[in-house]
Amino acid sequence: MKLLFIGPPGAGKGTQAARVAERLGIPHISTGEMFRRHVDEGTELGRKVKAIMESGAYVPDEITVEMLRQRLEEPDASVGFILDGFPRTEPQVAALDQVIGEDGLHMVVLFEVDEDELTERLLSRGRLDDSEETIRHRFKVYQEQTAPLISRYEGRGIVARVDGLGSLEEVTNRVLRAVTA
Ligand code: ADP
Repeated sequence: MKLLFIGPPGAGKGTQAARVAERLGIPHISTGEMFRRHVDEGTELGRKVKAIMESGAYVPDEITVEMLRQRLEEPDASVGFILDGFPRTEPQVAALDQVIGEDGLHMVVLFEVDEDELTERLLSRGRLDDSEETIRHRFKVYQEQTAPLISRYEGRGIVARVDGLGSLEEVTNRVLRAVTA
């Protein structure tokens, strides 16, 4: 099963992607986590993206797309995967279509949570790129660049909306119901 989890920063998609991937026995592929690992390990890629991530901006598409393309070539991704945080821009949608085909995704799970709740969650998370200013910037970038992609997938009839408020287990069960329906 090939799934995509999408939603504003703080919606819980990363946490849920990890839980649902484990239940379904497929890899959880998070471009944000991949970038953070590069930064922590001090790789060449990590040095390139560190300042960009700390500002809350998106990493340039050519870097992100190449990294993701290589990840999808790994054998564990052949059975399926949950993509978390990719695609986030029009060119990334086009690149994904090219790799897995326009009908390659089974479902897009859209997490819905209101913005006050989101800010509160992010501030309490305490990650390096979770300062108030960065958070505001990340929301803006999400609204401008990523929210419009949802209608592309709606046109394909594969979007399932999931309420992101509730306990971890409640939300996981909602997602599982949506993707196995
Ligand atoms: P969040 O969901 O809270 O925004 P992520 O872990 O998904 O957190 O992403 C953290 C940061 O990593 C982003 O703000 C961005 O700088 C970078 N990033 C992750 N995925 C992408 C992507 N697909 N395209 C461009 N930048 C990305």
